[in-house]
Amino acid sequence: MRNIDYCIVGGGYAGLFFAHQCILNGKSFLLFDKGMRSASKISAGMVNPVVLKKFNTFWLASEQIEMLTATMQEMKCYLGKTFFVQNPIYRIFHDPNEELLWLKKRQRADLTPFLSDEIHHLDEINNPYQCGKVMQGGYLHVASFFESFYDYLSQNEYWVQELFDYQKLDTDTLQYKNNQFQHIVFCEGNAVQHNPFFSFIPIKPNKGHQIEVKIEELTLQNVVKKKHFLIPLENGNFYYGGTYDREDTHPEINPLAVQELTEGLSWICNQNFEIVEKNTAFRPTVADRRPIMGKHPQYNNVFVFNGLGARGVLNGAYFSRQLFAFIENGTPIDDEVAIERFL
Ligand SMILES: Cc1cc2nc3c(=O)[nH]c(=O)nc-3n(C[C@H](O)[C@H](O)[C@H](O)COP(=O)(O)OP(=O)(O)OC[C@H]3O[C@@H](n4cnc5c(N)ncnc54)[C@H](O)[C@@H]3O)c2cc1C
Repeated sequence: MRNIDYCIVGGGYAGLFFAHQCILNGKSFLLFDKGMRSASKISAGMVNPVVLKKFNTFWLASEQIEMLTATMQEMKCYLGKTFFVQNPIYRIFHDPNEELLWLKKRQRADLTPFLSDEIHHLDEINNPYQCGKVMQGGYLHVASFFESFYDYLSQNEYWVQELFDYQKLDTDTLQYKNNQFQHIVFCEGNAVQHNPFFSFIPIKPNKGHQIEVKIEELTLQNVVKKKHFLIPLENGNFYYGGTYDREDTHPEINPLAVQELTEGLSWICNQNFEIVEKNTAFRPTVADRRPIMGKHPQYNNVFVFNGLGARGVLNGAYFSRQLFAFIENGTPIDDEVAIERFL
């Protein structure tokens, strides 16, 4: 029987950022994940302090970006790179009124640091009403981040490449197969609905699609957004997405969503493009748009970390630290994200 501090179930942003806390604090752990495609692995990795529909900012935006930057620096110590590219986001205006709204909103103290007063025209893409520039944002190199993190987990024998079997967990002792855990943290994203201990938490799946495209004649280095993000990838291709759909609960690719993306991209760029990959997954969202974390109401040392919504990167980096401090030191969790609001 092996004695291990933490069992982490799920290796998307929630699980990996929590694993980072264990690594940082010298805790032993095993992370269970089959290694399949997840919402995190197909995400755009955008780190964006502004809601780009109406140009508002959101709860803890500055604090979360600061925490993510620090977290990526910490990871650099063992992964060798930060994977976080700090780059402006160019929001294509839909009409002249949006430029006026942008300039008005940037007078607000909470938005001044993020909305630039310079209005831009980008050469290679269609932006007849020009673009506003969002500052302090950026994106993760998602593919290499996951590859590198999993390589590290594998080399250090932290990764168990299998599904966690809930029936085999003894909830009194936290024994699972040949392992004796001190704590268990469930981070399964939308799949929490199959978790007999936490299926009661109100996660609502929000289906997202994205496409990876080859655009030979486009040399764009910046991220642009109209309805969806267009992001240059490390392999020379571009990421375009993602869509949002709360109604469609089927796991297959929906051709209508792909059509929405194809039309959106055709509007932005006049160059021919070839779709090299299509993906879909479910964001784990919560009606009040806050993560859900905390201790199981009945079982000791059994925790959940979920509901990262459309902001897996920022919520994952920020709240994993809070959850770890709660478990280790009893530091209170913010009421707004605590599981108690659903008990
Ligand atoms: C198209 C799209 C684009 C997005 N773009 C962005 C973006 O730009 N920026 C951003 O911040 N967020 C983005 N998101 C949202 C982000 O992806 C989610 O917030 C995030 O993925 C949630 O992470 P998670 O770890 O909770 O869940 P997931 O990523 O779903 O990971 C859960 C993991 O748990 C595993 N698992 C489940 N059950 C078990 C079990 N029994 N045993 C072992 N493992 C199990 C799953 O296989 C999976 O690997 C996007 C999402 C989509 C779909």
